[in-house]
Amino acid sequence: MNSGEFRRRGKEMVDFVADYLEGIEGRQVYPDVEPGYLRPLIPTSAPEEPDTFEDILNDVEKIIMPGVTHWHSPYFFAYFPTANSYPALLADILCGAIGCIGFSWAASPACTELETVMMDWLGKMLKLPEAFLAGQVGEGGGVIQGSASEATLMALLAARTKVVRRLQAASPGLTQGAIMEKLVAYSSDQAHSSVERAGLIGGVKLKAIPSDGKFAMRASALQEVLEKDKAEGLIPFFLVATLGTTSCCSFDNLLEVGPICNEENMWLHIDAAYAGSSFICPEFRHLLNGVEFADSFNFNPHKWLLVNFDCSAMWSKKLVYQLRMDGVGKRV
Ligand SMILES: *Cc1c(COP(=O)(O)O)cnc(C)c1O
Repeated sequence: MNSGEFRRRGKEMVDFVADYLEGIEGRQVYPDVEPGYLRPLIPTSAPEEPDTFEDILNDVEKIIMPGVTHWHSPYFFAYFPTANSYPALLADILCGAIGCIGFSWAASPACTELETVMMDWLGKMLKLPEAFLAGQVGEGGGVIQGSASEATLMALLAARTKVVRRLQAASPGLTQGAIMEKLVAYSSDQAHSSVERAGLIGGVKLKAIPSDGKFAMRASALQEVLEKDKAEGLIPFFLVATLGTTSCCSFDNLLEVGPICNEENMWLHIDAAYAGSSFICPEFRHLLNGVEFADSFNFNPHKWLLVNFDCSAMWSKKLVYQLRMDGVGKRV
């Protein structure tokens, strides 16, 4: 495909997408297919000769669409809402064209800087405490992750590194293995399954704190488990508080569990994947009170903020970045 054909097909694709979204209400929201439906409908290996663009679009309608769950249908009520919008779709085209991989500032300066500034904008919209924002200095602030699951895992691994370094500084002979055996993390029994998975990947124990009658994690239940675990020689190091659980949008009591995390030197991560966008509204901001106790905070613009998958916004306090400095004060 040359640029001339791209111009023509690109316009056709925009029409195809607009037609899809305009007519989505008329489609059956959940597909009527059995597992394995697709394989018999397409060749067993990649064709030697190219198909025409028309044939490909026809296949999308004939073969792919019958197996699509239409998440943007007004009749889709499963899981949680996913965001999508025309500006976000157009932005994806531009991103695809620039196609840079922004793993460092030099890899594409605008990529890093735009992300940092936009995360500050978003953080200010949520009225996050100053310590979560990058500001002029450019240290700390927010980074976009692919998903909230990834953000929780990142936070857990950072917390694990922090506690291992702290304990090794105090007792130089201690091995990472000996410390990890004793580490224990917590979340409420209402936390998303990705929290449990982060514990499994991170190789640490993760305990579910029984929630109260309103499906919230409270201080008393947490204290009880903490005392028992410490008496058994375990090392509490990480807690995930959920603001807006996936199953029923309950809220852990941040103002109760936050101070406990700070006193116990436990990393507090807030998972607000689903409900976080709502904190931009002044009438809902109070639900985020207590974020000042947290070390990291995450929510998904790809759920409720008109950005299509994947865009998960994660902030951590500047302290974290100081930890990542080497002896001569350079970021490592
Ligand atoms: C949806 C959700 C997640 C997982 O989000 P992904 O971005 O799909 O990983 C985690 N926690 C909560 C509370 C959620 O609602």
